[in-house]
Amino acid sequence: MTSLAQTPWRNFIDGEWYEGASAEHILVTNPATGQPVAQVARAMPQDVDRAVGAARAAFERRAMLALSPAERGRLMFDIARELRAMTEEIAELECLDNGKTLANGRNEVALTARYLEYYGGLADKLEGRQIPLGDGVVDYTVHMPFGVSAQIVPWNGPLPVGARSVCCALITGNTVVLKSPEDSPLSLIKFAQACERAGVPRGAFNLICGYGHDTGAALAAHAGVDHIVFTGSLETGKRVLRAAAERVVPCVMELGGKSAAIVYTDADVPQAAARVARGIFTHAGQICSAASRVLVQRAVHDPFVEALVREARARRVGPGAEGADMGPLISARQLDKVEDLCRVGVAEGARLACGGERVADVAGHFMLPTVFHGVTPDMCIAREEFFGPVVVVLPFDTPEQAIALANGTDYGLAAGVFTRDLKQALWTADRLVAGQVYVNDWWVGGVETPFGGTKRSGYGREKGQEALLGYVQTKNIGIRL
Ligand code: NAD
Repeated sequence: MTSLAQTPWRNFIDGEWYEGASAEHILVTNPATGQPVAQVARAMPQDVDRAVGAARAAFERRAMLALSPAERGRLMFDIARELRAMTEEIAELECLDNGKTLANGRNEVALTARYLEYYGGLADKLEGRQIPLGDGVVDYTVHMPFGVSAQIVPWNGPLPVGARSVCCALITGNTVVLKSPEDSPLSLIKFAQACERAGVPRGAFNLICGYGHDTGAALAAHAGVDHIVFTGSLETGKRVLRAAAERVVPCVMELGGKSAAIVYTDADVPQAAARVARGIFTHAGQICSAASRVLVQRAVHDPFVEALVREARARRVGPGAEGADMGPLISARQLDKVEDLCRVGVAEGARLACGGERVADVAGHFMLPTVFHGVTPDMCIAREEFFGPVVVVLPFDTPEQAIALANGTDYGLAAGVFTRDLKQALWTADRLVAGQVYVNDWWVGGVETPFGGTKRSGYGREKGQEALLGYVQTKNIGIRL
């Protein structure tokens, strides 16, 4: 175990670093080597009580609301500054517990700081309305916080995904209990340190690290929770929603995806292949909005598949810390799942253009970049989320068929269109059922652009100004003069 093992990685509750009621630990391993890297204090349901209690007390004493909106905004800038000062350290941790490349780890810090600054700048701009009711009456609306916001994040991007929800909640006056993912909890502990150093009021932000089945479930069902933000798989999302329904707690749900890129015959085929490859092979495909399906118009199908295979083969797979282009999957369990689903694809009759199996004879959880073609929409591999570096290619003839295929899954997170014809692009974008549509690239957008799902990919929006509306409720105040 590295020197990280000596670091006490603890829960952050009520402004204190805390071991947890059970004194048990979660062993965190490096997905690139399979070796342990750190032990994190394991939060149990009793610790959920403690964290929710601290957040509740902070909300009752108006820990965030007592600050002016401008002061709350400045606090976000201060957290961003503290975080940026730890860039190299956090980037290294992202390689160690998450399997990211160093460049990706650095980007995650820069992105998180951007979220904090973006929402810090918006803290004093969330305005209510004055509603005219005639003589003798004044009526206006205010945005009220919910109270204690429980937030649960997955392992693939814990820092930006966690921090963006935390800052939306804090600037709108809520307090937070965040459960970090058990597989990759380290960067969020650094985020808690940044919050502590920046002077976030005691109890306003609490971080616990525990497993989902006990601690996550206890948090989602806790009587002291007023609002839930869940990012993770569809199946876990449904469990969280059942718990929330019992207490009629509002939720923001960011779930899975099987997002389709549509490539028309007039597209720049090599460029489309390069951009789809980035959309699926970044972080080994462990991104909810990955470009995991490609629908290609028949005339350019074969050249597109060839170009995509060239892109896949050009990627160096290995430990992010050693400068590889594509790192490992998070765990042996995830690698087994992705490889098994590839076997199902072969058994279903799909053709493997490249990959389809793990990198042999290495200790880490590395999967080869994989391209399937000859795929039909009824196959499991065309419908189920791999959450790995696997893309399936399906041919189509008419734009109407492309739309039917793209919209023909349970999910509806992202979609893309590649064409030189603007009219075709807009016609297609109008008909795609997805929370975001990219034209001639993948991931066109930024912290400023609303992000979220349709259908089983969830509801509510993160990112952009729109996200703030998911953290407040409107109160109308009518005054008879
Ligand atoms: P997961 O659902 O297994 O776990 C997500 C989180 O939920 C973890 O912190 C886990 O500990 C917790 N959890 C597990 N069981 C729980 C329970 N019963 N009650 C409460 N919490 C529980 O998901 P994962 O495998 O870690 O992440 C991958 C999934 O996340 C994929 O489906 C991916 O598409 C999705 N995702 C979505 C977005 C988005 O913004 N839409 C972003 C990233 C990941």
